[in-house]
Amino acid sequence: MEVTLLGSGGFSPTPRPTCRCAVCQEAREKGGKHVRKGNSTFFHGDNILLDTPESVMQLLNENGVESVDAVLFSHFHPDHTMGLRAISQMCLPDDTPFDGWENSSIDVFMSKHTRDRLDPESSVPGYLLRNNADIKVIEDGDEFSIGETHVTAIGWEESSESERKDVFGYLLERNGSKVFASPDENKNLPVNRLPKLDLWIKECGLFRKAPDGSKLRTDGFWDRMMETELSFEQSRKQAEEVDVDRVVFTEIEEVYRRRPRDYSSLSNELGDDMEFGYDGLHMEV
Ligand SMILES: [Zn+2]
Ligand SMILES: [Zn+2]
Repeated sequence: MEVTLLGSGGFSPTPRPTCRCAVCQEAREKGGKHVRKGNSTFFHGDNILLDTPESVMQLLNENGVESVDAVLFSHFHPDHTMGLRAISQMCLPDDTPFDGWENSSIDVFMSKHTRDRLDPESSVPGYLLRNNADIKVIEDGDEFSIGETHVTAIGWEESSESERKDVFGYLLERNGSKVFASPDENKNLPVNRLPKLDLWIKECGLFRKAPDGSKLRTDGFWDRMMETELSFEQSRKQAEEVDVDRVVFTEIEEVYRRRPRDYSSLSNELGDDMEFGYDGLHMEV
């Protein structure tokens, strides 16, 4: 299976608008791997797009994607759904003369919770889904096929207080390869349900300190965040609990205040099977 990590950022892209920190300044000057747009992954062959951050139109263009046949949503959070206007754009007719704007539709898979939050009846995101998205509501454990790719949806609760499975990861199997993608909100992910994997694209988790050891958050804010979020150490521990050949971390936030070289040196401590992703990372498993 061929997979491209289109965008490796999270809710805070790098460079972040108006931020004058050294990491953002260097990203503006140098570009390349210093820049992290939103969190989005593309699975080649059956042309499956996982999550649509605001930057997804640009990411699809930059990575030369020629067709999207299905969209999967991990959860409703804006940094994963606010680019869904791309769906109607991709459905515009390519050939002239046009006989209307509603040329085609794309299958869009999401949990009931995500569907409710995107509200196809009356919200702005719902308006964007109404004409061109063929919404498929999925539940935890559902299995379905997209072309030759077999997909299993695995759901879990975003926080211990939530009463429903509002976050989903997807196991994709094609030509004997198994890839699991859980781009964000991995705190309560049921790792014991994952089979042996060739590749796991997973949330990186939060860093408490900058590379120089200074605190990125106050202790109080860190404690509050840890009620619903997972730290990088916890994310790494999850990865160690699963039999997986290659782990690629994504959702790499600007607020972690790290440069590509910081992630490279951290990767060296992690061993051969774990690495930090970057925008445009192409993988074959
Ligand atoms: Zn996110
Ligand atoms: Zn910054």
